[in-house]
Amino acid sequence: MSVSAPITQDVLTIPRKMAEGPVNLVGLTRPALAEALRAVGTPDKQVKMRVNQIWQWLYHWGVRDFAAMTNLSKDFRATLARHFTISLPEVVSRQVSADGTRKYLVRIAGGHEVEVVYIPETDRGTLCISSQVGCTLTCSFCHTGTQKLVRNLTAGEIVGQIMLARDDLGEWPEPGTGTGDSGPRLLSNVVLMGMGEPLYNFENVRDAMKIAMDGEGISLSRRRITLSTSGVVPEIAKTAEEIGCLLAVSFHATTDEVRDKLVPINKRWNIATLLDALREYPKASNSERITFEYVMLKDVNDSDADARRLVKLISGIPAKINLIPFNEWPGAPYQRSDWARIEAFADIIYKAGYASPIRTPRGEDIMAACGQLKSATERARKSRAQIAAETGQG
Ligand code: SAH
Ligand code: SF4
Repeated sequence: MSVSAPITQDVLTIPRKMAEGPVNLVGLTRPALAEALRAVGTPDKQVKMRVNQIWQWLYHWGVRDFAAMTNLSKDFRATLARHFTISLPEVVSRQVSADGTRKYLVRIAGGHEVEVVYIPETDRGTLCISSQVGCTLTCSFCHTGTQKLVRNLTAGEIVGQIMLARDDLGEWPEPGTGTGDSGPRLLSNVVLMGMGEPLYNFENVRDAMKIAMDGEGISLSRRRITLSTSGVVPEIAKTAEEIGCLLAVSFHATTDEVRDKLVPINKRWNIATLLDALREYPKASNSERITFEYVMLKDVNDSDADARRLVKLISGIPAKINLIPFNEWPGAPYQRSDWARIEAFADIIYKAGYASPIRTPRGEDIMAACGQLKSATERARKSRAQIAAETGQG
């Protein structure tokens, strides 16, 4: 490993195309929706109630047509229909893996595409959502990091991914069934582990997650939402204060030398700085541990010495270590560690007193596993040689 990758790639960041015409209500915060309603003449004293009603229609019942909002007057429904829309990103294709994992290719305004993955398990169903088209960072083992176009998703495009997955799962309650809890949900958990670095799109991610957590919104507990970051240190405390969800960190290495290569943002905020921020993470406790994600790369970061260093580094932080067998993608400069090696690594961590689950790769046959996501239509792909040169793995 001689040549090192830059922290950010030479990407083209596309500005968000401003929507012309009617305003989309999906993704507006409570104050923004209140303001929009006031602007179309809703009397001040009604605004708060109308916001609640509209949120319930949108996020509890999954209604897409103002005419169906039967607790609003006909006139008011007509006003809404004149000024606003209810729109979601469009599902371009849907693939189902042999193991039941579903992958959606979703088109957002401007024609850009992101991927969304639904992973059913026996006791839960997890939706992995994207926060950006591509990613400005250049983690050398990540497929998304090779994509050259980047745009931040809007809050509506982020919460819209949850809504379209509920459409596909047929999971909106039947009208007339009451608003009570109707048992375990198919879509019970959300992880911000799809494309993009969520903390480089903080405001939109925060606004979308507030809707996801609100009792009149999607109504998921904040403990069922996990945000994964590569280590954008200045935003970490803000995540606890302003979002309050669980945190996962893409750790992946136990020396700065190796982490600089794997997760180049380490050159800006190194391991010691990152760990300081995690030690201070206001919400961390034994019941809300920080997840350390650790991708297992053959002969790169998978030795017994690495496992022992990892345990030492994180001491004092309420943590669990999620070992992720590397998922290959075309042109990837790494190989997955052998199973025996992964198990030996997990064992050292477990014996030191930390949970060390090995993440079973899901949806590999449809390229839906961690780090395999990339928009097919935006394959301004780096060449194999270029990747090898940057990572020194050639
Ligand atoms: N940008 C954020 C979230 C998206 S990546 C982050 O980096 O944390 C979600 C997880 O998948 C991260 O831990 C990432 O390091 C991991 N990942 C990326 N590429 C992978 C690959 N090819 N195989 C296994 N895990 C990968
Ligand atoms: Fe971006 Fe995360 Fe991939 Fe790194 S691992 S390139 S931060 S999406």
